Amino acid sequence: MQSSNAYIRIDRASKSFTTRSGENIVALSEIDLSIDKGKFVTLVGPSGCGKSTLLRMIGGLINKSSGSVAISGEEVKGPTSGIGMVFQSPVLLPWRTVMENVTVAADIGNFDRKTINDRATRYLNIVGLAGFENKYPSELSGGMQQRVGITRALVHDPKVLLMDEPFSALDAMTRDRLQVELQALWMASRKTVVFVTHSIQEAVFLADRVIVLAPRPGRVVDDITIDLPRPRTLDLINSEEFGKYAGAVRRHFEAEEVLQ
Ligand code: ADP
Ligand code: MG
Repeated sequence: MQSSNAYIRIDRASKSFTTRSGENIVALSEIDLSIDKGKFVTLVGPSGCGKSTLLRMIGGLINKSSGSVAISGEEVKGPTSGIGMVFQSPVLLPWRTVMENVTVAADIGNFDRKTINDRATRYLNIVGLAGFENKYPSELSGGMQQRVGITRALVHDPKVLLMDEPFSALDAMTRDRLQVELQALWMASRKTVVFVTHSIQEAVFLADRVIVLAPRPGRVVDDITIDLPRPRTLDLINSEEFGKYAGAVRRHFEAEEVLQ
């Protein structure tokens, strides 16, 4: 679905891989997708349907085989500081404190130290890490480390935040809390977010829009607007309305692999 004021615009983007044995795998086939500025969009689908491939194409980490991916009218040709990324494991520098890890961008790029520090303090506060600024990664739980990774991705004020299953290594309760905190961060920062997950519940809870992908070849099979008020709280998950949205996503996979 294309809209005229799209911020991220993907036009007939395809990606094929050749395996070592010479086999051609179509990871993504002719993806058309437009995302408006400031929206929170989730990509959901079973393992192998091309979610990470699509996210990496948007982030300029891999080249597409054909088609176009543009952000703010400019074709994506490689990674830029305008895009923040968060992966499943945050890969923090063990010899740096929380604050030093979060503000690492200020050492590398041409960023104003005070602005970065102020933003870091503000976001660490939102994710409940106030008072942990001088701790080292080894002193933090997995959930806290992922909070540090998310804050690090946001401090240089990227326009787009790309997240690839950032909570899937965490226990269920930590994951629930992080979803609520991420919503608060997003409401405070209003980034354009593309968030990959294989959890239907997570996809619906976080999103303004859920894009449903199916495998072989990876393609978009549904695009569902989630019209639930924010801020959303976890008890919403038990509501009838939430159940309807989750059901609308799930029906695509009833005959396929089992999703969470
Ligand atoms: P997802 O993130 O939805 O689990 P991926 O985007 O990682 O899926 O992968 C989509 C398909 O592309 C899979 O069949 C996967 O095996 C294949 N693929 C991904 N990366 C490569 C690669 N570098 N080389 C070969 N095949 C790949
Ligand atoms: Mg993946």
